[in-house]
This record gives sequence, structure tokens and C-alpha cells, in this order.
Amino acid sequence: MKPKVFITRQIPEAAIRKLEETCEVAVWKYEDIPVPRDVLEKEITEAHGLFCMLTDSIDAALIQKANKLKVISNLAVGYNNIDIEAASEKGIKVTNTPGVLTETTADLTFALLMATARRITEASDFLRAGDWKTWSPMLLTGQDIYNRTLGIIGLGRIGEAIARRAIGFNMNVVYHNRSRKPEAEESIGLTYVSMDELLQTSDYVCIMTPYTNETKNLIHAEHFKMMKENAILINTARGGIVNEKDLYDALINGEIWAAGLDVFEEEPVPLDHPLLTLPNVVTLPHIGSASISTRSIMAEVAASDLLKAVNGETPVHLVNP
Ligand code: NAP
Repeated sequence: MKPKVFITRQIPEAAIRKLEETCEVAVWKYEDIPVPRDVLEKEITEAHGLFCMLTDSIDAALIQKANKLKVISNLAVGYNNIDIEAASEKGIKVTNTPGVLTETTADLTFALLMATARRITEASDFLRAGDWKTWSPMLLTGQDIYNRTLGIIGLGRIGEAIARRAIGFNMNVVYHNRSRKPEAEESIGLTYVSMDELLQTSDYVCIMTPYTNETKNLIHAEHFKMMKENAILINTARGGIVNEKDLYDALINGEIWAAGLDVFEEEPVPLDHPLLTLPNVVTLPHIGSASISTRSIMAEVAASDLLKAVNGETPVHLVNP
């Protein structure tokens, strides 16, 4: 009998075909509706492989029902949506897709940084609304990027890729991690600083840590007070790392200048969210790694590791060794 695989969203066809060669595959077909909990509960009891997304909450209660499951393959590098401990206790392997999305996510982060600094979405809306009556010297003036300081909190794969782009833009780049990266310091030209120094000296603060118990609410009111008045916060990591209420207050009180957000505590972000009312907040619907090519590669990587685990082999990107 073929092993059963459940895929929680439509994914690129090639990855589905690959899984279908050796597995019985079921796919949740509704693009715009996340798989309902009761469907997931039913599918997980029978599945040997679960191919899921960051929008699926794979918690301990769900994992308890998974008596045949060998692997949870997450189409993302972050895996904060999965209870890793509960999966490990049941001997279920968890895999992710690191590396293949690094450059694409760094591109998006840099695009968001530039769009926020130069008020691109605001300017586009201004023109389309018919407000462009005349040109004036200070119309929609923003912040420079070249010669400014970028502070990266969480200099991992994506952080380094952002740093390389920033150096190309003639920026000064500082970073903070729990551990230093001497190789990156030397090869890219970065400076390690304390978190306080990074916040006090950076014109751009970019969050790039994983979302963990330690990074939950990592950036809050006290930190915004340390930042420069012209500073811009960019978050393409995870929503819960930045305290959204404190960010709103900091923007309203002029403690910082603007923010660019690809991620939110609650996703999709509710349309009445206070941050969406501010013109100096550029928002995106969690599209960091969303290029056609990268999403296809991510699906292939996730499918390949899922098959390895189902066949009793060790996946390449095992989160819970
Ligand atoms: P990574 O290579 O593991 O890098 C994460 C970095 O964060 C590491 O260098 C780590 O260094 C640092 N870090 C961890 N905890 C920290 C803390 N408490 N304080 C300061 N630094 C800390 O991961 P990555 O591939 O670059 O991805 C990073 C995150 O980006 C992912 O976990 C995911 O949530 C997010 N992401 C979002 C999108 C999107 O679509 N918006 C796309 C891809 C990834 P130390 O261990 O030395 O501290």
C-alpha cells in the first residue's frame, strides 16, 4: 500500500507529481481558504506525510492524533507554527526549506526598505488619487539610503544576504546576534555591536531572527525610545517579534520615522489594524520568498525531504535531529 500524503494548499504541480510517483496524495484545493481544523484533524490521523504551510498551526493536540505520521514538511524556513517538542516526542520528523529562499527574501527586504525610505507606495497612491497638482521641492521627500547605517538584528543566512546588498548601496552595516560572525564581519565588512548600540546608531533597523520564545516581543517600547527619530524599522522575519502596539505608539509619537512590515502578529492582518491607518507604514502580505522560481524550488525541497522521511531515510533539512 502506498504511503498517504496530505498537502494543506495548492503547491507547484511538479512537486505534487513527484510525490504522486510513490505516494497517495490528497491536496486541500481551495487557494483562498486555509484548511479547516476538522479537515486537518481527520487527514492527520491517516497520513504518513504532512506537507504544510506557515499558516497551519500544527500544535500538540493535533500531533497527538497523528498515529501514522512520519514527517511534517513545512514550506518555509521558519517553523514556529509547529510544536517541535510534541512532534519529537512522537518520533515525527520535522523539515523546513532553509537556504533556497535566502536571496529572494533578501531582495524583498531590501525592496521594502527602499519603498519605506522613499515613500514609494504613498507616492503612487498620491498620484493615482489625483493629488499631483504641481511639483514642489519638498513634495514626498524621504530618507537617503546611501551612506546611512543599517542595523541587522539576527545576522543569519538572510541577514547576511541583506548586508551584502546594503554594502552595494554604500551603507554602513552593523549587526547583533547572540554569537558573533567573524567570517561575515571580514568578508562582507560588518561590525558587531550590542543591541542597544545598534538601536541608538542605526538609521534602518532590520529584524531577521527566527520567532522563538526568546525573540517573542523582542522589540518593544523601550527599544523604540532608544532609536533615532529618522529611523525606519523593517520586519520581514515574524510579526510577534515586534510589539505592534508599541510600534504604533512610537510612530504616532514621532519616536521613529517609518516602518516596513511584511509580517504581522495576526495574519492576514485585520483591515482595522491601527498600523494600517498610518501613511508611513508600508505593508505587504507576507511575500518575502514569493518569487515564482523560489516557491517552486521550496516545494521541490519540501517534497524531496518528505519522501526521504516517509522512506525511513534522514531528510536533508531536519529541524529535530
Ligand atoms: P538563520 O540563518 O537561522 O538566521 C537567524 C539568525 O538570528 C541567526 O544568525 C541567529 O544567530 C539570530 N538569532 C536567533 N535568536 C536571536 C536572538 N534572540 N537575538 C539576536 N539574534 C538571534 O535563519 P534565516 O534563514 O536567515 O531566516 C530567519 C527568519 O526569517 C526565519 O526564521 C523566518 O521566520 C524569517 N523568514 C521570513 C520570510 C518572509 O516571507 N517574510 C521568508 C524567509 C524567512 P544566533 O543564534 O547567534 O543568535
